Amino acid sequence: MDSCSSKSSLSSPGSVVSPCTPRGSRFETLLASHSRVLRRSRLEVLQVNLGKKCNQTCRHCHVDAGPWRTESMTEDVARKVAAWIEAHRPAVVDLTGGAPELCESFRFLVETARNAGCRVMDRNNLTIIETTGFAWLPEYLARHQVEVVASLPCYLGENVDAQRGDGVFWKSIRALQKLNAVGYGDTLPLSLVYNPLGARLPPDQAGLEADYREELQRRHGVRFTRLLTLTNQPIARFAEDLRAQGELEAYLELLANAFNPATVDGLMCRTTLSVDWRGQLYDCDFNQMLGLPLAGGPRRSLWDVAPADLDGLPIRTANHCLACTAGCGSSCNGAIERELEVHTPDLTEA
Ligand code: SF4
Ligand code: SF4
Repeated sequence: MDSCSSKSSLSSPGSVVSPCTPRGSRFETLLASHSRVLRRSRLEVLQVNLGKKCNQTCRHCHVDAGPWRTESMTEDVARKVAAWIEAHRPAVVDLTGGAPELCESFRFLVETARNAGCRVMDRNNLTIIETTGFAWLPEYLARHQVEVVASLPCYLGENVDAQRGDGVFWKSIRALQKLNAVGYGDTLPLSLVYNPLGARLPPDQAGLEADYREELQRRHGVRFTRLLTLTNQPIARFAEDLRAQGELEAYLELLANAFNPATVDGLMCRTTLSVDWRGQLYDCDFNQMLGLPLAGGPRRSLWDVAPADLDGLPIRTANHCLACTAGCGSSCNGAIERELEVHTPDLTEA
């Protein structure tokens, strides 16, 4: 049985239809047809988006990031975020962007979160390691035991360059070799992230991981810990691309037809709090890019809330959420159903 079909009949005690979902959206209709409402659960991950500046301009980027963007977390905001981390100690602090390492406060936040006992993740685009002035990154990340989550949408160069820009593949391979040299992929966790080149669902995560492992080792001697498959979100640059090619509606249809209710319990918005470069709050990084703030009142900043204030809040959803519930599901931790299989206790063993 493949992992997409194994849990399709699971019940979902924790998921409840969000009053914040636009009435009549396809996502709302699908949730309601499965008697689901989506609410926040206990906080596990604080995902901090340090800004929109990036050294790359990928075609599928949901942040519309690029070298020309100027939005970046100031030292003042970073100090408030750090104080919150020290006070509330979330299990995971997930640093993203843009290229998060381009923010002046990157190292300050890494070290604050590690000293507070948090797992820290760096969503690293790999080419930043090959950028002038950032050669220190592999050794620095290893020293602080930061988990690296790195985009590599294919093990073939032409496919990576088509999506992420000319020359990106070979820079990425060199960066991966440098990460391997300091222990990543062996004693330190190195996750690679795959997303489809076009308007398709990702293939089975486990099968693709096996292909990546064999091809990257054989061709380049590269090792990694696990592969995460992500579904492209129909927002920002990817949505514009689809619209220009007249494929946006067909893609939404594909996502809606692949709706899988077994993914709802594992949606990352239930346990993740997303913070933008100004300190404002969202249920996830995608909602952040769409300007959909947390439900339950006026826009709030991280330092206005404690984790317990968020428990049970309805989650802001819209049709882009269809990307998270299609097929095996999609989250910042890859396919959702495999995660559920790993974390769901086997009740027959009681
Ligand atoms: S997808 Fe990542 S690496 Fe590419 S432009 Fe966006 S933030 Fe930068
Ligand atoms: S885009 Fe995904 S993670 Fe974000 S609110 Fe929608 S379902 Fe949740």
